[in-house]
Amino acid sequence: MNVTLRTDFTVEQICNGFIYNEFEGKGINGLGGNLVIQPEYQRNYIYADNKRDVGVIESILSGYPLGLIYFNKTGENSYEVLDGQQRITSIGRYVTNKFAIKGKNNIPYNFKGLPKDKQRKILDTRLTVYICEGSETEIKEWFETINIVGVPLNEQELLNAIYSGPFVTAMRSSFSNSNNPNVQKWGAYIKGSANRQDILRTAIKWVSKNKINEYMNDNRNNGDITPVISYFNSVIDWVSSVFPDVYDDMQGLEWGDLYEKYHSQSYNPSTVANQVKELQQDYFVKNKKGIYEYVLGGCIEKKLLNIRIFDEPAKKTMYARQTAYAESNNISNCPLCAISEGNNSKKIWKSSDMDADHVTAWSKGGSTDISNGQMLCKSHNRAKGNS
Ligand SMILES: [Zn+2]
Repeated sequence: MNVTLRTDFTVEQICNGFIYNEFEGKGINGLGGNLVIQPEYQRNYIYADNKRDVGVIESILSGYPLGLIYFNKTGENSYEVLDGQQRITSIGRYVTNKFAIKGKNNIPYNFKGLPKDKQRKILDTRLTVYICEGSETEIKEWFETINIVGVPLNEQELLNAIYSGPFVTAMRSSFSNSNNPNVQKWGAYIKGSANRQDILRTAIKWVSKNKINEYMNDNRNNGDITPVISYFNSVIDWVSSVFPDVYDDMQGLEWGDLYEKYHSQSYNPSTVANQVKELQQDYFVKNKKGIYEYVLGGCIEKKLLNIRIFDEPAKKTMYARQTAYAESNNISNCPLCAISEGNNSKKIWKSSDMDADHVTAWSKGGSTDISNGQMLCKSHNRAKGNS
């Protein structure tokens, strides 16, 4: 790969013909149409936060270096941005009055409102640009390794770069656009942001049954993403019809796996809604995220809920109460030993030889307060086994 340094590009040249696509949230062109700012393997523009974009402009006005920028040479006079997209888009957006910086006394200044000398200072600023020339493979491999400036690419952004092509382009237009009105609905079930490719990743994860890399590799040149979209919609439609109420902790569950496992069963949404609501309010259910699979599975797998158990002070109180009663009646302090015929019917167990038990099991509606608790000797507790 050939690399040459150029220090003659000014902000004015780079921003010549700058277009910002508000809907897709990306810079399109610069250098009078000769620079592609967001080639398809690039991540979305994420600096529009009134911090990082403002920081870029303040750096220029203070004369601080902006860091290295890399272009990939694609023709005689044409380039695409390999690294520096976030900074260039911030500059382009500022120069086209898309946001303001704070001046003295917190007065906001967009570019138009800046004094002429400051406008000039920005436009005349020269960028330090490395021009890279090489094969697609070389450029891609190198792109993976320059993951050094600013916010690192996350795993999916990297995969989008590696497998860039018709598939990624189509996927991004459907799943990576924060302005898509569906994003809010999807966000109830999927954690992360459209912009950082979390929804796109989930869509591929679901349709590929967790084989994201393989699926992206196999479909790299396939721009028809109908199978991904229809599978994705099936999962979302299924979750939202089985669980009519939306809870915060539904976000980020493995809905794709749950769909595969349970979607052929039929559920009554209002029964399910009541079950979920009761479990959500149940103090003894420690793992609220486990409620959905517990209900889908017919309310059997209690371990999904991580039921709260008696704490030490409660056990001590129960032990003292039972032992005092047992001693005054000359019977065992294990109520099950006391009614047995065996040698232990009068045995006073040490507290370390006993375990707490629900008189009425939690699964049968028993609560975990002391009135529903008793200490049993370990062997009786094991034998009962449904606390
Ligand atoms: Zn016993």
